[in-house]
Amino acid sequence: MATLSTAISPRPYVGRFAPSPSGALHFGSLIAALGSYLRARSLGGKWLIRMEDIDPPREVKGAADDILRTLEAYGFEWDGTPLYQSTRTAAYQAKLDELLVEDKAYFCQCSRKQIQAMGGIYDGRCHHLATQHTTGAVRLVNRAHIAQFTDNLMGQIQVEHAFAAEDFIIKRSDGLYAYQLAVVLDDAYQGISEVVRGCDLLEASCRQLSLYQTLGFIPPEWLHLPLASLTPGFKLSKQNHAQAIDKRNPQPSLNAALAFLGQESVENQGSVSKMLEQATAQFTLAAIPKQTEILIDP
Ligand code: GLU
Repeated sequence: MATLSTAISPRPYVGRFAPSPSGALHFGSLIAALGSYLRARSLGGKWLIRMEDIDPPREVKGAADDILRTLEAYGFEWDGTPLYQSTRTAAYQAKLDELLVEDKAYFCQCSRKQIQAMGGIYDGRCHHLATQHTTGAVRLVNRAHIAQFTDNLMGQIQVEHAFAAEDFIIKRSDGLYAYQLAVVLDDAYQGISEVVRGCDLLEASCRQLSLYQTLGFIPPEWLHLPLASLTPGFKLSKQNHAQAIDKRNPQPSLNAALAFLGQESVENQGSVSKMLEQATAQFTLAAIPKQTEILIDP
C-alpha cells in the first residue's frame, strides 16, 4: 500500500543584511553584514540585501549608495538586486487594510504621556472604544503574546509577559510604516529562512513572531550576534557617531570584525573576494561568543 510521505523538504537557506540608510557603515554594521554573510555562504545559501529606507526623517542623502559601495569594497557579493522598502509601501498598506477589516488591528490616538501613565505598556483601550477612531497610529491586536523563542546562537530567549502581550504599533501616527510590520512582511516576501542580526533586536523578535502568527506566515529562524559597544549599554551606532569603516583598506576592519565574532583572521591575498572566501571556509558558528554585548576599544 502506498504511504503518504510526511517528509517536509528543508527550507532553502536565505539570509539577509538589512541596513537603514541613516549613515555610513560602521564597525557595528560590518559585524551584522559579516555574520549574516558568513552564516549564509558557509551553508551554501543565498544572501540578500534590503535597504530599510522607510523613515525619511532619519535618512541621510546618498547613504544607501555609500553602504552598497562599502559592501562591495569589502568583497560582499549579494544575490539579486537590493530590495528598497520604499518600493513596498503599497504591499504594507494592503496588509494593514486587511488587518483592520479583520479586527486584527485598530487605530489609536493615545499620546506618549498617556502611555507613560499606563506604566509604559499600552493597555489596549482604543480597541474597546464604542466608536473606534479612524485616524492615528495603527496597533496590532496582539493575541499571540509570544514571549520566548530559541535563538540559534544565544539559546532560549525570554521577554517580560507584559511586553510580549502589548498591542504594538504597526503604522505610526505620522503615517510611516512601523519597522515591525515592514520587516516581517519583507522577510516573508524575500523568503528569509534565518534572520541574523544584532542582539539589540532580541526583544523585537518576539513582536515579530506575534505578527507572523497573526498573519499565518511561517517564521524564520533567528540568530542574534553580540553587539559592539564602547561603554556598557551603548552599542556603536550612527546615532552615537560611530566612525565609518575605511573603504580603501578593508583588511584591518575585516580582521577586527572576524576577531570580534571569534573567527580566525584572513591573509591579505590581494583580493577582498578571496579574503571573504577564506573567512567563509573558516567560519565556525560555535566560536561566536554567546554574549549580548562585547566592549571594544575606540
Ligand atoms: N534596519 C535595521 C538596522 O539597521 C536592522 C533590522 C533587522 O535586521 O531586522 O538596525
